Amino acid sequence: MAIDLGGCDYVHIDVMDGHFVPNLTFGPPVIKCIRHCTKKTFDVHLMINPAQPFISDYSEAGADIITVHVEADAHLDRSLQLIRTLGKKAGVSLNPSTPESTIEYLLDKLDLILVMSVNPGFGGQVFIDSQLDKIRRIRQMIGDRPIELEVDGGVNVDTIKDVVEAGANVVVAGSAIFKGTDYSKTIEALRAAVEI
Ligand code: ZN
Repeated sequence: MAIDLGGCDYVHIDVMDGHFVPNLTFGPPVIKCIRHCTKKTFDVHLMINPAQPFISDYSEAGADIITVHVEADAHLDRSLQLIRTLGKKAGVSLNPSTPESTIEYLLDKLDLILVMSVNPGFGGQVFIDSQLDKIRRIRQMIGDRPIELEVDGGVNVDTIKDVVEAGANVVVAGSAIFKGTDYSKTIEALRAAVEI
């Protein structure tokens, strides 16, 4: 897998259902097919509604982290419990319009919080600046809990510094990497921009 060789830490997989978000991508069979291509963590971002009935399918397909959206299911607490019961890391994602208060009572059930810095559904969108404030607030809410704070959407060499300074420790880069041909060079440039 070229991005694996290029030095990525995680492989972030965007699952879209053409209902919760406008686009349609793929489901568990494709994830299962590519699982053997890398030993890197499969960070599966479910942009599907409902998500809960399909969580075990994504677990079986080889996900290491399963992230569901706050906006997708009525019983988020139950979804997170289910993910951990399956032995996977539990993540929750917030759309740009969703306040951080929605996850206040879930913090002890979370391994990862994913802030969407674009409206999910398409690649190549521009970073929404208001999300920097949300990242800062969530970093404070996390305190010393072992929760990763990930940011997805519009992250590139120009925006990554602000995102990391606001408190993110995992960033998703899609278009920034795939629009070029030298993945390793882009990943190096992203790391250099924040000196990690
Ligand atoms: Zn994503």
